[in-house]
Amino acid sequence: MHKKRYIKNVLTLIFSLLFCLNLFAQVPNFSNEKRGIVLYPSDITSLGSLNWIELLSKNSINLIGIHTDTRLEPLTDLESFLKSKEGKVFLNACKEYDIDIEYELHALQDLLPRSTFHKHPEYFRLDEQGIRQLEYNMCFTSEPAYDVVEKNIRKITKWLKPSTHRYFFWTDDVQFAFCHCDGCKPYSVSEQALLYENKLLEMLRKIDPQAQVAHLAYTNTMESPKKVKPLEGVFLEYAPIQRNYNVGLTEKHLNDLKENLLVFPKETSHVLEYWLDVSMFSDWKKDKLVKLPWEKGNFLRDIKTYKNLGINSITTFGAWINDDYIEQYGVDHTNKVLSEYGHTLNTSENLIIDANLQDWDKNNYIYGLTNPWGSQSKDNTHFDYKITNDHFYFYFKTTDNTPTTSPYAKELSVEEGDRVELFFSSEKDLSKYYCVEINPEGYVLDYRAKFYRRFNDKWDLKSLRISTAVTENGYIVEGKISLDEFKSLRLVDEVYLGVFRADYQDGEKVNWYTKTIPDSRTPDFHIPSAFEKIFLN
Ligand SMILES: [Zn+2]
Repeated sequence: MHKKRYIKNVLTLIFSLLFCLNLFAQVPNFSNEKRGIVLYPSDITSLGSLNWIELLSKNSINLIGIHTDTRLEPLTDLESFLKSKEGKVFLNACKEYDIDIEYELHALQDLLPRSTFHKHPEYFRLDEQGIRQLEYNMCFTSEPAYDVVEKNIRKITKWLKPSTHRYFFWTDDVQFAFCHCDGCKPYSVSEQALLYENKLLEMLRKIDPQAQVAHLAYTNTMESPKKVKPLEGVFLEYAPIQRNYNVGLTEKHLNDLKENLLVFPKETSHVLEYWLDVSMFSDWKKDKLVKLPWEKGNFLRDIKTYKNLGINSITTFGAWINDDYIEQYGVDHTNKVLSEYGHTLNTSENLIIDANLQDWDKNNYIYGLTNPWGSQSKDNTHFDYKITNDHFYFYFKTTDNTPTTSPYAKELSVEEGDRVELFFSSEKDLSKYYCVEINPEGYVLDYRAKFYRRFNDKWDLKSLRISTAVTENGYIVEGKISLDEFKSLRLVDEVYLGVFRADYQDGEKVNWYTKTIPDSRTPDFHIPSAFEKIFLN
């Protein structure tokens, strides 16, 4: 053992008390890129709100859309969910983890209730035979019908508030159900839809001055509108259902999309895809859930197409990724698909290692490491890691009221004070693993190890770059490691990761914190259960 000397910075302690109110400050999300998933209310309740948020957050997904339709889950299900205890937990967690929330709804039947038909058939669509029809959509040029729509918009937006201010009140999910009256006849299906969306925008702007409204280009509304122009604030939502995912977008798809991008601004355009739509791939048969035919290569091809056209807001249906699905196809499969989806979409690649975290988006973000052998409680550490094409990036932002370091004499001096630690293993049994421990002053202890506790601290991680900073109430450690070096250590694809922190209290008392709680009665991070599996690709 080395002789221990402790330095306590009294000033730091005073500052930390002054700033303790700031403990729960979040790291802001500076990215405008949308990486979303669209789920039914029942998908969220099936896995549980917090499990979903953890899944999204760790896989770099920063937007969730909740979907309802009149066939499977109506708008009333969404309302009940949002007003339930579980729904409140969900909304709060979205806020805390900087995950945007919006609502993608086939809602025209809720906006113009069918019960109005008997009194006012003229509000409804005229079919090709000249008969007013109660089922589906409306007469898109009936002014009094829009008065009813507006009344219901006011009601619904009392509880439905998208954090993005983007509203999706789609027309009904059927083809050939548009209006043939004299007023509507001159307009194509896409144009009738746009007349309605322009009206919605005017109504919503009175309630939410930042409101934007989606024009859904989908099945029969794929063709770009010509005679009707979108008001500023109506944005394109392109949803190419029933594609063949083994090939890219067809020429027809691409032409329609490009034509639409001449009408709607590309800066606000949004893609709604089906890459993760279990419900679609299962042909909407709940008793025969099909495994997602996920191919990362196909996905890369598609997002390249969209990004090259200037579209940065991308989401996919993930309907029926629920407990039944995970039970059938496994946690690993589900995690891998979500991880490849979210991380591939996250293109803000170049982080500067300067202990300034302004350039971080949330990727695999967590708040709080646990002390399983002491208070059982969590600390106030913000931790995130991000895998790009070249590097494993990470940061720790800790709160520490008892800063403790030992003068640096050699690598092992780092063990005598506060530090954060990352362990990596290619093997679940830790037959070979690699450890790096970093203190607030930027000194590093790195070593190779074999289970159990056979250490070689002559070993160095060559590509590790770090920057540290002591803050008013703790310290920040930011760093990166090259994936080439990981490869040379056989750390590829599936890797086991341990995330730890040692916090010296008074003298020799240490509080040990960990991301994954190990199966051990005494403090020990050098055992397999202290690690969790992550994916590097
Ligand atoms: Zn009409």
